[in-house]
Amino acid sequence: MKQPPSILTDSFGRKHNYLRISLVEKCNLRCTYCMPSEGVQLSPREELMSASEVYEIAKVFVSHGVDKIRLTGGEPLLRKDFGEIVEYLSSLPVSLAITTNGVLLDRYIEALKKAGVNKLNISIDTLNQDRFKGLTLRDHFHRVMNNIDLAIKEGFNVKLNVVLIKGQNEDEIIDFIELTKDASVQVRFIEFMPFKGNQWDLSKTISLETILDRVSEHYTTSQLERIADEPNDTAKNYKISDYQGTFAVISTVTNPFCDSCNRLRLTANGRLLNCLFSDKEQRLLELFRSGASIEPIIAKSVGMKKAVRAGLDSPEEFENYQNHQKNRSMIKIGG
Ligand code: SAM
Ligand code: SF4
Repeated sequence: MKQPPSILTDSFGRKHNYLRISLVEKCNLRCTYCMPSEGVQLSPREELMSASEVYEIAKVFVSHGVDKIRLTGGEPLLRKDFGEIVEYLSSLPVSLAITTNGVLLDRYIEALKKAGVNKLNISIDTLNQDRFKGLTLRDHFHRVMNNIDLAIKEGFNVKLNVVLIKGQNEDEIIDFIELTKDASVQVRFIEFMPFKGNQWDLSKTISLETILDRVSEHYTTSQLERIADEPNDTAKNYKISDYQGTFAVISTVTNPFCDSCNRLRLTANGRLLNCLFSDKEQRLLELFRSGASIEPIIAKSVGMKKAVRAGLDSPEEFENYQNHQKNRSMIKIGG
């Protein structure tokens, strides 16, 4: 059999240069689409990667071609040693980015600037305080909004992640797009995805078509511009002419982008996942702690990667919620 050129190239020829590292399983919000109502079983602390383990493991991936790392969670800013982790990783030749709910962002602005981290994805699903409380079960709306303003003012490249759910916030599509009028941010509308315990249902998802219908009711055809997508981009990108920012639609469910997938995921307890929807995990941290090389287990994970959404390739299979109940909840994967 022909050998793949790198342990990060899968059997379909996809090169994995993007590693998403979850730093923590805990969160200071309780977004109902992410955190199951019964909570999640947390790993014992000693089973989570330490700051130096995150760095040493990331270094192995970088030596095989990873050039982009995103830190996520749970809420990554809950890690007391977050500043240390960012400082370590900033010494690697990678583009380093963070996904956060923004609640604690003001505490880390200086650490992020010092480490040269410029890319921040901040999650915010509504622009209404009461609705925010209903969606996240916490009253931190103003902290998040103030921290979004702060990040923009401090010159960070800010993307706002908005998970759209029918009956909850799809009436805010235009309000979110209007945020891009005077601010150079990207609003990213993300389709609601199925994970263990999140009561997903296909009828609750909002498709690209629905979003564009709303847009065409509010703006003229000549105002809407389709703009170029970046390589391996999961999003379709748009802008309203004359607006400073842009908006994008990520349709994982109705329009998957598996053909160009370049992502691997490392959970906070050091398990490697080759797909967001996979229920197969490789115990990378345990092997690392034993002193053995982790390269064979990385190669195994990449080699097992399926062509489309962890093998749920027909829409019927994917749309069957039962097929997602063996997987981790989103909060324990790291989105
Ligand atoms: N706590 C951080 C945050 O909220 O940004 C980082 C972790 S969170 C799991 C990462 C991203 O996943 C967030 O933008 C969140 O909105 C998204 N997410 C969580 N559950 C989701 C679901 N069921 N469908 C689509 N996106 C989801
Ligand atoms: Fe926490 Fe982020 Fe999940 Fe919301 S989406 S519960 S903020 S990890």
